[in-house]
Amino acid sequence: MTDDALHPSATDRLIVLLVGAVGAGKGTQAAILSRELGLVHLASGNLFRAAIAAGTPLGDEARTYMERGELVPDELTIEMFIRELEKPETARGAILDGFPRTVRQAEALDRMLSTAGERIRRVIHIDVPIEELVQRVSGRWICPVCSTPYHTVTDPPRVAGRCDREGAELVQRDDDRPDVVRARLDKQMGPMLAVLDHYRRAGIVDRIDGRQPIEAVTAAILGRLRTATPA
Ligand code: AMP
Repeated sequence: MTDDALHPSATDRLIVLLVGAVGAGKGTQAAILSRELGLVHLASGNLFRAAIAAGTPLGDEARTYMERGELVPDELTIEMFIRELEKPETARGAILDGFPRTVRQAEALDRMLSTAGERIRRVIHIDVPIEELVQRVSGRWICPVCSTPYHTVTDPPRVAGRCDREGAELVQRDDDRPDVVRARLDKQMGPMLAVLDHYRRAGIVDRIDGRQPIEAVTAAILGRLRTATPA
């Protein structure tokens, strides 16, 4: 076992994919790992939102799909990521979060990397049972005045249903309601499992139990990356 796998040279990028459903803690882990490993965190949703805020043609096109809660077409998404992975900031590698989300995207990414003599090092699946995901996401409430987020189980307000600071009655985003969360998860699961199958065939998927505390999940992921075969 060596730490070399976590300290890539400029020609040996460490490209890691994080895969997990909404509420699995993928974004949280991606942010921690990117800090720990000094790798760029490329989150597809954030990249699209930034493009929308910047008013780019990509943003204008992506917006129409995002507003309907649909996936942005593969061509646009692939093009955006290929451009991101060509940037000098990714010279050491990147944590990919939210991409690829379809097998076509995965195949396009594999092709792009193999053209450059590279490949994805590991695919980390942060696995959390659906019912726990529903409970995690549907427990989220927010203050309509100051936007402070709460969670009925992990971060409850002092007085049930009221903001600690404003005393205002907490509200729930429509798409965090249990029935809507379940529907969102159902829609996500098929493509997500297909992407995992795609990479399982290459033997590079590690399943991590996402029910553990945040620090334990991070430690498990770092452990897997350390023992992963070098590129
Ligand atoms: P997220 O922040 O990951 O929930 O993504 C927000 C929205 O961005 C999604 O609902 C999709 O519309 C779009 N999106 C994010 N990642 C992808 C992707 N890999 N392929 C297509 N659309 C995506």
